[in-house]
Amino acid sequence: AAADVQGKTFAIATDTTFAPFEFRNGSGDLVGIDMDLLRAIADNQGFKVDIKSLGFDAALQALQSNQVQGVIAGMSITDKRKLIFDFSEPYFDSGVQMAVAKNDDTVKTYADLKGKTVAVKRGSEGETFANSIKAKYGFTVKALADSATMYDDVKAGNSVAVFDDYPVLAYGVSQNNGLKIVTPKERGSSYGFAVNKGQNADLLAAFDKGLSNLKASGEYQKILDKYLAAPA
Ligand code: GLN
Repeated sequence: AAADVQGKTFAIATDTTFAPFEFRNGSGDLVGIDMDLLRAIADNQGFKVDIKSLGFDAALQALQSNQVQGVIAGMSITDKRKLIFDFSEPYFDSGVQMAVAKNDDTVKTYADLKGKTVAVKRGSEGETFANSIKAKYGFTVKALADSATMYDDVKAGNSVAVFDDYPVLAYGVSQNNGLKIVTPKERGSSYGFAVNKGQNADLLAAFDKGLSNLKASGEYQKILDKYLAAPA
């Protein structure tokens, strides 16, 4: 284990409602793949975490202003973000997908979005993707703070569709959240743990070391299976 992080406590920011990566369970505890993974890595490497459930964009801002030392939030490793953040090894492959209300039979493709409004998360890859095709398909992009609010906006009929990460949409649909997925997933991107560029290199190294240990021990796969295995 990295001696430099031993016994230290790091403040780590995350998203609020991004199941199965971070969400509150029935008892109000913050759980999910990111949460279990981070806690297991901290245990493995002998450091402690103080997890702050801030919201995605707020988490990135808290990191940039040094209010926290790291972010784990289903955060995609992108070239643009690499200019300001250092990322761990990737720990999950993801990508953006489109969902609509379960009972909507009119919106099946991007072309059906003409003149309509689409909900995205402020600061997310889904927002970047929506902005990259909105002129072509003639829709309006509405940026909201978290996935739960985006889904509610679609169910209320204020937006006709939502762009979000496919494992999160798929998990929600499997829990009967009132949505359905209608497009194939867009180009994949992988999730990583982030620190500010050039800062907290010890923490980043400990994360990578712990991740690799958990992969070797099978604990990493156990955490994924806990949240992603098909419901019985
Ligand atoms: N993976 C997406 C991104 O990094 C969304 C993350 C999230 O909504 N928590 O932009």
